[in-house]
Amino acid sequence: MGSICEAVAELILRQQPCVALTGAGISAESGIPTFRSKGGLWEKFDPTVYASIDVFRQDPSKYWSIRGEFIRNYDAYQPNSGHRALAELERMGLLRHVITQNIDGLHRKAGSQNVTEIHGSLREILCTGCGREYQAPHIPEGMPPRCACGGVLKPNTVLFGESLPPHALETAWRESGASGVMLVIGTSAMVQPAASLPFIAREHGAAVVEVNIEKAFSNADYFLEGRAGTVLPELVSEVRKKS
Ligand code: NAD
Repeated sequence: MGSICEAVAELILRQQPCVALTGAGISAESGIPTFRSKGGLWEKFDPTVYASIDVFRQDPSKYWSIRGEFIRNYDAYQPNSGHRALAELERMGLLRHVITQNIDGLHRKAGSQNVTEIHGSLREILCTGCGREYQAPHIPEGMPPRCACGGVLKPNTVLFGESLPPHALETAWRESGASGVMLVIGTSAMVQPAASLPFIAREHGAAVVEVNIEKAFSNADYFLEGRAGTVLPELVSEVRKKS
């Protein structure tokens, strides 16, 4: 991987701005199962049932029964060296934006400032009645948990059947189209519209670099094979050597 890593480091220095698109894979080393990983949450619970807006409206406790534990343990999950490497690249002035499909808030915890969470975040929990915002893990007891006003609480994430927040989507399209290099990290690139973003980047002339334990995105110009928590710190150290 050495020479590919060097080539990508040069590209990041030469072809700014650099933007990252991340998926569940970057958080795997923080102990959060990916969407499709063996033994993961969604192998046991069909997300189109447990995480759909229609089912949430009929019976919110179904959703809370599988997501509540994560939300109540929100502070226990910590960023890993992959998240920290991206935050470092941003501090070096070499990563303009992180577009993430993840809802775990770990990029911000790692110190990244310019982050667009296109599927929302489990940090913000909103009352469906009065709109009051609670911050995970500080939410009332109960199944489903309810606001002081009696309204059911719902995390500010995009459930199946809901549309993406327009502002986040606009930012993601704009940042992808303006990038010189796009790092596509730990995503199976199957969920739309996130899956289209590397194509938009390429159409506008960006080089696309995939970081993954196995190739998922067929159109990448460079493939850095390995765990994000290993590959990204190596890449940042290579960039440092060359800058
Ligand atoms: P996915 O589960 O479909 O794909 C994960 C990808 O990460 C795979 O390609 C896998 O090979 C790769 N991967 C696994 N471990 C890795 C590692 N250590 N380093 C690098 N790559 C690794 O996830 P997705 O593409 O993000 O799409 C799933 C959807 O599920 C998203 O919409 C996301 O919102 C949601 N989700 C989020 C989280 C989270 O917030 N952490 C977790 C699970 C699912």
